[in-house]
Amino acid sequence: MIKLVIFDADKTLWDHYNISEFEEPFSVIDGNVLRDSKGRTLKVFPNVRRTLDELKKKDVKLAMATWNFPHKTEKVLRALDLDHYFDVIVSRDFPFKFIMISEIMRKLRESGTSLKSEEVMFVDDRRAHFGNVWLYLGKIKCLEMWKDVNDHLEILSKLERS
Ligand SMILES: [Mg+2]
Repeated sequence: MIKLVIFDADKTLWDHYNISEFEEPFSVIDGNVLRDSKGRTLKVFPNVRRTLDELKKKDVKLAMATWNFPHKTEKVLRALDLDHYFDVIVSRDFPFKFIMISEIMRKLRESGTSLKSEEVMFVDDRRAHFGNVWLYLGKIKCLEMWKDVNDHLEILSKLERS
């Protein structure tokens, strides 16, 4: 049974490919669209909030592993009111998801939640990350967004280990 779901951000939770480009001040339209000072916009994908709510209800821990400047991630998540969903957010200026995931698992362990790799799910639109995740961290269940699942709500049906 999955006890932790780790999400990528760009192109997984929203449609923009790189929020590190975004410059303040931000404005938020209808809750799910964020526009920066230069007119760049991102849109949170339709069922993201509902999926995060459902996962929380099931007592699943939530984390984020994203290749972005940490201060940008923090500000975008706060502006969109998404920050409160995540137990751990690891945002780094390098692309190595397996390093971020091991940091997430270490932080949870330090706060009293020790998880086996079999209990962890990682959702990312880039399959290229999965090889190192499996090599270094073992049997984490990796889902390729838009291929293994086409709607975030489908993640809910993948929590049972098959
Ligand atoms: Mg991505």
